[in-house]
Amino acid sequence: MENIKNRALELASNALSWTDEAIQKFTSLESLPEPLDCKPGCHYCCFNLPMVTPPEALFIGHHIDQTFTDQQKQTLNTRIQKILKKIAGKPSDEIFMMRHELPCIFLEESMCLIYAVRPAVCRTCTSTSAEHCKMIFETRNHRARLRCYQQIREIFHTFQTDLVNRSKEMGCQTGFFYVAETMKDYFRHPEPIDAWLQGKMVFHRKV
Ligand code: SF4
Ligand code: SF4
Repeated sequence: MENIKNRALELASNALSWTDEAIQKFTSLESLPEPLDCKPGCHYCCFNLPMVTPPEALFIGHHIDQTFTDQQKQTLNTRIQKILKKIAGKPSDEIFMMRHELPCIFLEESMCLIYAVRPAVCRTCTSTSAEHCKMIFETRNHRARLRCYQQIREIFHTFQTDLVNRSKEMGCQTGFFYVAETMKDYFRHPEPIDAWLQGKMVFHRKV
């Protein structure tokens, strides 16, 4: 049974490793006009509701299950409830524009609690100017684009397409969900990974 479960986890793990390698390869090009300005603790982009695919959600949920203490799980659950209550009934456009009020459920003391397993959207959310990210955040100009290289946006697009196609080929649920929603579903389900592999709808959109 563990081997079967690993198929689901490896799907996300391999795709995320590919993403990291692709970013690394691109950013080490000598012809890169400017380096990325992303550093540990820089978290303007973490006031957000990251969207994830089911394999990423399973990968994150499994990691939390294995590594978080009961107290950490309780704190996380409280944050999930708070965020979902805040966005309940709101259209995605409105949610997007209130992102300064929505710290990610995994943001703690300016750091990411799940850094090793964070989703592709966070790995590829990069900028050549932290000052620009700060300005966007402070002025709440959320429609402004980050100073991210188009090539890195394309890496993200390739990641998503590949993961969606592979999930479809396996007859498993696909789609994009707020990570807070997926964590609620993951921890409510008795066997989320098995159920997903059996083609069941594990994740539900609540907003
Ligand atoms: S994308 Fe912007 S806010 Fe996020 S880590 Fe990079 S520089 Fe900082
Ligand atoms: S998962 Fe981590 S990196 Fe991504 S938004 Fe949340 S705190 Fe930031």
